[in-house]
Amino acid sequence: MNEQNMLEVRNLTKHFKVGSKQIVHAVDGVSFTLKKGKTLGLVGESGCGKSTCARTIIRMYAPTSGQILLNGEDITELKQKQLKPYRKNMQMIFQDPYASLNARMTVRDIIAEPLIAHGVVRKKEDANELIYPMLERVGLTKEHSGRYAHEFSGGQRQRVGIARALILQPDLVICDEPISALDVSIQAQVVNLLKDFQEEKGVSYLFIAHDLSMVRYVSDDVGVMYLGQLVEVSESNEIYKNPLHPYTKGLLGSIPIANPKLARMKEKSGMEGDIPSPIDPPSGCRFHTRCPYAKDICSQQVPQLKDAGNGHMTACHLYG
Ligand code: SF4
Repeated sequence: MNEQNMLEVRNLTKHFKVGSKQIVHAVDGVSFTLKKGKTLGLVGESGCGKSTCARTIIRMYAPTSGQILLNGEDITELKQKQLKPYRKNMQMIFQDPYASLNARMTVRDIIAEPLIAHGVVRKKEDANELIYPMLERVGLTKEHSGRYAHEFSGGQRQRVGIARALILQPDLVICDEPISALDVSIQAQVVNLLKDFQEEKGVSYLFIAHDLSMVRYVSDDVGVMYLGQLVEVSESNEIYKNPLHPYTKGLLGSIPIANPKLARMKEKSGMEGDIPSPIDPPSGCRFHTRCPYAKDICSQQVPQLKDAGNGHMTACHLYG
């Protein structure tokens, strides 16, 4: 393990049993590295497994197999009690700040809860000297601390969610579609807030989103997931300028593009249909049922994630 790595995920798999025989292949053999102080964007359509991957990393779900190394330490097999000190160091920001914040608690209590749970303070009153500066830091005020979540706008609620996640000064924050539910005008404010924290504290983010345009601005590297597997990983600008995997091209085709070269790519990508069921994923390359470039080999052999040049990784038979 390189000491510059905050998170290393090796061959991570998460399957869920449905009924007596069926298995949902939610995450299947995902590997990636997130460097300290950097952001890795994880993108893909709904149902591609990115949120399950995040929740397995943070050990909300027990992995089926594979390895999770946090700051060089293997946390894959740790029991809930053993995980407690690591949980302090890895926090999560959720998509829907309204659902994730307890409606019966004041903002002060919501932010104090992790401080008490992890023994940073003993009593709620002692937490105020940490909570008030944090509220100011996320653009709220001391006066907001006595209010309830329903009294806030969506953007303000997400600021409370960020304050709660960052109050313990974690090294790793998993941001699960943190801006998808917000108005476009608020999205940039929340993203800038996260970036400012990163510059100040060196926190690492795993940033999950369903479209590439959203992660381009925040991410140093981007991983694209399809039906439980990583199909492309690269430096952020590179993946946007030179997408290799047909699925990534299809995703780029699903957002409005001003660039004529990318607009032509959009026309060619030809991605059709919905994502197949993860209960019985297609053989070989899982994308072959929707891929306009599919050949015979694609339904027979699983393409491995390989370096197509300059560290730009893709899993596609078109690239050897
Ligand atoms: Fe398309 Fe084949 Fe590449 Fe899969 S391996 S993305 S089906 S060309």
